[in-house]
Amino acid sequence: MQHARDSSSWSESDLSLRDHVGTLRANVERLVAADEPVALYLDVDGTLLDVALTPSTVHIPPGLPELLDALSQRLSGAVAIVTGRPLEEADHLLSPARLVAAGVHGAQMRLSVSGGIESLAPSFDPFLHADIKKIVQDLPGIVFEDKGNGVALHYRLAPEQQPALLLMLENLLPKYPNQFAICGGRKVIEILPLGFSKGRALRKLATLPAFANRVPVMIGDDIADVDAFQAAEDLGGFGLKVAGEHFSKEEATFQGPADVLSWLQVLSHSRHP
Ligand SMILES: [Mg+2]
Repeated sequence: MQHARDSSSWSESDLSLRDHVGTLRANVERLVAADEPVALYLDVDGTLLDVALTPSTVHIPPGLPELLDALSQRLSGAVAIVTGRPLEEADHLLSPARLVAAGVHGAQMRLSVSGGIESLAPSFDPFLHADIKKIVQDLPGIVFEDKGNGVALHYRLAPEQQPALLLMLENLLPKYPNQFAICGGRKVIEILPLGFSKGRALRKLATLPAFANRVPVMIGDDIADVDAFQAAEDLGGFGLKVAGEHFSKEEATFQGPADVLSWLQVLSHSRHP
């Protein structure tokens, strides 16, 4: 985990980094205000919502669904959710807002606002599922989350269990060769089907009519978002980092979810004078 430093200890290179991330933010503001075509891809936890002790205890800021709707209208429908959560869950949290979305790191997708949720990955191997459950039973404090296409093991309540948990999972996976990958995140270890990532999800969403030929802007706070930042940059856009447990305040464009939301609020109203 990286810790933010006191601003008095910032070096010259930190200041140029601050300039750089400030410029990224201003660039996107200018594009939207000038009615240039921009597409926004938004992570949920740690980006729109503060991270909670467990995934089910997050707090939804008042007005968030209305903000997402206004933003989507402002950008002609080019706003997508790109999350590690299952989409049913993300929908529930953001209801009544309903957006194009990728869930479980792209293993699930909804390609149009009125469309259904498609599963792109094979269903999770029940034997692997049972083996992981067995591991968790021996490690008190680990929260097991069944994501349908994958499993997330949250260790925020018992961080001291992380090394043992990781070792046991690494020992288990050779039993299921070429099927699954272990992915790290903010106080979570995920077992996901091979070949899915937020970057791949963004590239697919970027081909949809509402998103194609727009400058992609991905906003995220975690290691899984890095791949999506790269995808956005490869497509001529930007990756904007949110400070938290993964990115420091110096390197991030946003200081936390509240900063993201107030910026999105400005974007949703912005017009050239
Ligand atoms: Mg996140």
